Amino acid sequence: MLENMLLNIEKKLRESNLIDLDEVQIILNGYLKHLSNNSYLRAGKIMEKIDCDVNLAYKLITLIEDLGYVRPVYSLYCNGCRQEQTKEYEVYTDVPKEAVCQTVDCDLDLNFKNDLLVLFKVVYSDD
Ligand SMILES: [Zn+2]
Repeated sequence: MLENMLLNIEKKLRESNLIDLDEVQIILNGYLKHLSNNSYLRAGKIMEKIDCDVNLAYKLITLIEDLGYVRPVYSLYCNGCRQEQTKEYEVYTDVPKEAVCQTVDCDLDLNFKNDLLVLFKVVYSDD
């Protein structure tokens, strides 16, 4: 992420008082700094970096989303081969209700209800 984005995120995370200042730095320098435009910000990575639970990770992502630096996109996840499907959708309602896993030799049936995955895509901003 760009310097101005990191500064704004730092301010927002500090003001939230959800995590301590060391953790803010770990997230910024250990993770966000390395995210390129159109890459994904992952709750799992945040949980790994600062050893927090999934709820807190999503609260932090929401703060970053509020700044307009990530936006949600939708995909399907196969629990058989544990692969994210490569096709992603901008709009929730565009995700097919049923699909077949695209991984070679998997072909498992996927469905919207059980296999929906929300990803947060990094959107660079130089404001
Ligand atoms: Zn699969």
